[in-house]
Amino acid sequence: MTEEWREATTMNRLWGAIKDCHRCPLGETRTNVVLGAGNESAEIMFVGEAPGFHEDKQGIPFVGPAGQFLDQLLRSIGLDRGQVYIANTLKCRPPDNRDPLPEELATCTPFLFKQIEIIRPRIICTLGNHATRTLLGTTTGITQLHGKLVRKKGLAYVPLFHPAAALHKPPLKSVLIGDFQLLRENLDSERARWREERENPPETPVEEDAQPEQMGLF
Ligand code: SF4
Repeated sequence: MTEEWREATTMNRLWGAIKDCHRCPLGETRTNVVLGAGNESAEIMFVGEAPGFHEDKQGIPFVGPAGQFLDQLLRSIGLDRGQVYIANTLKCRPPDNRDPLPEELATCTPFLFKQIEIIRPRIICTLGNHATRTLLGTTTGITQLHGKLVRKKGLAYVPLFHPAAALHKPPLKSVLIGDFQLLRENLDSERARWREERENPPETPVEEDAQPEQMGLF
């Protein structure tokens, strides 16, 4: 695989550059690279952990029961998959759905950061502990962070419970439903903030530090 992916400015170009990726051992056991799906100009991006059995077979993220619940949650705030973008930290399925290994994440997450760079979403929702820890670099668990907007290096994040976790632990379902209502409010606030910044741009240039930390990995 070449380094062509670094130059990609569209998801199509990125897909063309990584669809045959074998940078880590998961390339030997997967069926499909699951890059992501949805709107390339989405205001909200969802990031889960890794493809599962059905995702690996179909090459689409969040299919199966967890995906259906995510669709239901999106509908509850007036959205559908065509208006958001859904991806994972890892693009290939770990065997038996085991947890991602640190070296796999280190190899694969630059592709996720490139996706964030292409989409420039207003809010990134991390689904579950793995995605939250990977993107926010925190050891604080999702139980404490869920539903709250966190700013980091110029990006806005809202950690959420993973829909699959809510299916296994029914009390989490109502928590997730409530957090989606907060997400709707946070999106409205972010829209207003972006509008304000566009109409009244800051006089001083944006500091280098305000760029997403992960962009340094490109
Ligand atoms: S998990 Fe990521 S780095 Fe590993 S083979 Fe798949 S696309 Fe490449």
